[in-house]
Amino acid sequence: MNPDEFCEKDSLHLHNYFTILEGPGALKEACLNCGHRVIYNKRDGKIDNAAYLRNHLRDTVQPGEGKTGKLYSQIYGEDAVKAHARWVKNRKAKPKLEDVQAEARDMIKTLGRKSYLMP
Ligand SMILES: [Zn+2]
Repeated sequence: MNPDEFCEKDSLHLHNYFTILEGPGALKEACLNCGHRVIYNKRDGKIDNAAYLRNHLRDTVQPGEGKTGKLYSQIYGEDAVKAHARWVKNRKAKPKLEDVQAEARDMIKTLGRKSYLMP
């Protein structure tokens, strides 16, 4: 990122862009904090994805290890990191295929029908 593109109103110097206008040839955005504007010209209906992602680190960082995890905690705070850790801990384990098949067989028996998909 070009140094003159750093946001002066943000403690992390990251602009917080939102879309002003989107047309068939371009996408125009402005920073909520400082008003800095950026235009992405479209080629074949698509914008330069690398430039877009570079300017939207705030929206794309994810909690976890490494640089992006550190940036995530700086942007969203330790509470958000803890909330994510709780979500990971409490989410249900993915069901096993055999269990899903057994459950489907039970449902078919209950309905009194046979399926050509299930043995
Ligand atoms: Zn800004």
